[in-house]
Amino acid sequence: MSVPDHCGEISRLINSPVMFREPMHLHTSWRIGGPAEIFVEPRGIEDLRAVLTYAAQSGLPLTVIGAGTNLLVRDGGISGIVLKIGGGFSGIRVDGETITAGGGAKLHRLAAAARDAGLGGFEFIAGIPGSVGGAVVMNAGAYGSSVGDRVVEVTCLGYQGDLLCLDGRRLDWGYRKSALQGKESVVVEAVFRGYPRDKDLISSDMEKILGSRRAKQPLEYPSAGSVFKNPPGNYAGKLIQDAGCQGMRVGDAQVSTKHANFIINLGKATASDVLKLIAAVREKVMEKFGVSLEMEVKVLGRD
Ligand SMILES: Cc1cc2nc3c(=O)[nH]c(=O)nc-3n(C[C@H](O)[C@H](O)[C@H](O)COP(=O)(O)OP(=O)(O)OC[C@H]3O[C@@H](n4cnc5c(N)ncnc54)[C@H](O)[C@@H]3O)c2cc1C
Repeated sequence: MSVPDHCGEISRLINSPVMFREPMHLHTSWRIGGPAEIFVEPRGIEDLRAVLTYAAQSGLPLTVIGAGTNLLVRDGGISGIVLKIGGGFSGIRVDGETITAGGGAKLHRLAAAARDAGLGGFEFIAGIPGSVGGAVVMNAGAYGSSVGDRVVEVTCLGYQGDLLCLDGRRLDWGYRKSALQGKESVVVEAVFRGYPRDKDLISSDMEKILGSRRAKQPLEYPSAGSVFKNPPGNYAGKLIQDAGCQGMRVGDAQVSTKHANFIINLGKATASDVLKLIAAVREKVMEKFGVSLEMEVKVLGRD
């Protein structure tokens, strides 16, 4: 069956739009990426389940994305189905000290909901631009805290259509790591726990964090945040800076002069430009310090 035929079949099964050859640069914060053969942003759990079942039966490969803020999609695009977990899963509700948020809810809304309810523990999230699902899978973090610290429970839909309720204490949280990475499941909801805290103190901490991000990060350019993980006991940004990589450029991809662990898109950067620049940076850091930098950003798709 051809890809347009698959699109037609999926469209008949669900009420959400199904796109053929959707440009992924529209769905990544780097503004880079070739087309997804089939792109679906499900409006709810039934459509999500229907697409998962269709993928399992047809053997089409499946890729799940959230807000696309930690992704590099190669220029050849992504084969099979890309499922974006977004607005259809964006509900947030507060109940006492717990907050239940859909996998597609934006992190800034989670942080705002916590602040408005007088719940502390979510201040560090201010300025991380992803979705709840992406943040849980990546165990996103900053300023000494990470999302896993606050997770009580995660609800996932497995690729076979099975709904799983996972205990937050058993998700093997690590530095930008969780047991959900590489699992054939979609995060549809997560429950977090905060603690009572004065709203004004929460607000002022969030403002400080946002100010510090604006001062240190090149937020005026498209990027995916930090490209590399910090090696144990060191900072990737410092190693890259001390290896003299700031300002290095391939095409329109440039190692930021403001924050060395950011690669910015000056306009028309391609994934191939970014990957060449990443290779050059890794080589320089290896040459100078003997450290092998590990990627934090996830690379998807084909050349
Ligand atoms: C300016 C900037 C600053 C940033 N600062 C930080 C920071 O301080 N700390 C930090 O940790 N990160 C930071 N990031 C990176 C990024 O925002 C986080 O990693 C975020 O949690 C990714 O969420 P996302 O929804 O964009 O996920 P995506 O980038 O869409 O996906 C990331 C991974 O999660 C998977 N995934 C996404 N959603 C789901 C889901 N619902 N179910 C199953 N799998 C899913 C994807 O398959 C992929 O493997 C920054 C990025 C930018 C652009």
